[in-house]
Amino acid sequence: MNWKGHAGLSLLISSLLMIPFGLKGIALGFIIITVLFSSLPDSDLVTPLEHRSLTHNVGFGLIFAAVIGSIIGYLAVIYVEMITGILVGIMIMLAIAGGVFSHLLGDIIAGWRYDSTPWKINPLLPFSSKSIGYGIFMATDEKVNYLFLKVGILTFLFYISFGIFRIYSGLH
Ligand SMILES: [Zn+2]
Repeated sequence: MNWKGHAGLSLLISSLLMIPFGLKGIALGFIIITVLFSSLPDSDLVTPLEHRSLTHNVGFGLIFAAVIGSIIGYLAVIYVEMITGILVGIMIMLAIAGGVFSHLLGDIIAGWRYDSTPWKINPLLPFSSKSIGYGIFMATDEKVNYLFLKVGILTFLFYISFGIFRIYSGLH
């Protein structure tokens, strides 16, 4: 999956997860950050690291999310206000972890090796070294990547419309 597919899949999942919370700043922040970090594991492409190795597991997502969420949350506690700072820190941690987890899901679904066998990853490290990958389509398949992006955008628009509907109908 390329960045479009990952952005679409993360938009789809995070918009669905945020529907119960309605149209709120913190819910929108969660969606935006999840999408922004949905391609973070592929930053290994610009490093000497082997692609789809160290950055493609829940351990990487949890550590990265904890570090960035703590720093921003701490700054928000100092410069804004305590409760807001804690909430923002937690939201950022969950959103970054969510972005990375959705990336792992995308790479489990998609990706072939040069010999056309599924390109498996070890998404559960450090908890389990099980390798998983179905290679349902090629990671570079533009049609499928665009399809994910379109479905993600439609789901996000549904989240926005439903949120507006709830506000105007007094359901929130
Ligand atoms: Zn990847």
